[in-house]
Parts: sequence; C-alpha cells; structure tokens
Amino acid sequence: MIFDTIKQDCLSCNRCSLHEARIGDPVTFSGPTNSKIMIIGEAPGEEEELFSKPFIGPAGEKLNEWLNWIKVSPSSIYITNTVKCRPVNTVGPSKNFTPFKEHIQACNYFLSQEIEQLNPKVIVLFGRTAAQALGFLKPGSNIQNIINTVYTYKGSSLLIMKHPASLLYAKRDPDKYNLLREEYKNGFIILKGLIDFINS
Ligand code: SF4
Repeated sequence: MIFDTIKQDCLSCNRCSLHEARIGDPVTFSGPTNSKIMIIGEAPGEEEELFSKPFIGPAGEKLNEWLNWIKVSPSSIYITNTVKCRPVNTVGPSKNFTPFKEHIQACNYFLSQEIEQLNPKVIVLFGRTAAQALGFLKPGSNIQNIINTVYTYKGSSLLIMKHPASLLYAKRDPDKYNLLREEYKNGFIILKGLIDFINS
C-alpha cells in the first residue's frame, strides 16, 4: 500500500535539517486514503508532534468547528502538512518557526506523492507555506491577493485560505478577528459549494 510506504519512508527521513529537532515521529497524514478532499496545512506544532497527528490542538479545533458548520465530517477528509517535522528552534527557548524554502522543497518529496496517489477532487491550502509549496505564492508576496480564490491544480479544484491558527492569533484585536472570521465564513461557503459539486 503506497500510503504505508510513504509513512514508513517519512519516519526515517533526514532529507532536511528539521529532522534534527524531532523529539517524536514525523507527523504524516490522517483521514481516509480514498478521500476526495485533501487539506494541506503548514507544519506540525507541539501537540501534533506529541500525538503524531496533524491538525489537533487549538487550530485543529477551529478547523473542525468550520467543517461542522458546513456539515462536512472532519474524519472524511485526508489531512496533511506541507512539512512533516515540527520547525522548532534547537537552541534557546523552544519556539516554532515558519518552514524555510529548503524545508518545503525537501518535504515536497512526500507531499507530491500524497497528491499523486490520493488524486483528490478538491484541495484546500491553509496558509502561506502550503501556497508556496504548490507554487501559488512567491516568497514575500501577499497571500491576501489569493485568499478564497479557486484554482485548478493537476485536475483538482484548489482553494486557498489562511491557516486556521490565524484566527487564534487575531483574538486580541476584535476588529481584525471579525474581518478574519468573515473571510473564513466566505471561504468555507466556497468549500461547501465545491464539495456539493463533486458529490452531485
Ligand atoms: Fe524529511 Fe520532511 Fe522531516 Fe524534512 S520535514 S526531515 S523532508 S520528513
């Protein structure tokens, strides 16, 4: 089974420097390997690394809330990250960082196999890192210009949204939070339309 092979290969991977800070296994994918829908996030955080599962913890809870809002079961979706090892400082206080270009490029070895094997009908990219990995955003470009836009990628419909964690960070600024919430609402309405279309 190709997904088992991907997982096994990933567990022993040292293709980029992120393997040096691993305290657990790389975090591969979750969900059915015959799903028509694929979500691609950025990278595992502390809780994901601890439990070896993508999108758990507060950002995962946000994602589940929105999926439940559009009446889509989170467990019906194939969920993965752009990079499979937690990007965390190895010196000084333990702090996550955004993966670098070389990490994204190295881990694309796995992501490209996942996309090819799953062959989803709908792909959702959450955040800058995922958008960069698939070539929809150049480093330094503004993600706002491509948010809630539907593209075609290798025969799939592809939607770009900000990472659900951004809602957590925005909570301290009510105006920003409300704008962002509206943006997510619109994004998930678009996603619901795409899912209804492939299921029709
Ligand atoms: Fe390998 Fe990806 Fe981990 Fe880098 S982030 S070591 S490429 S599994």
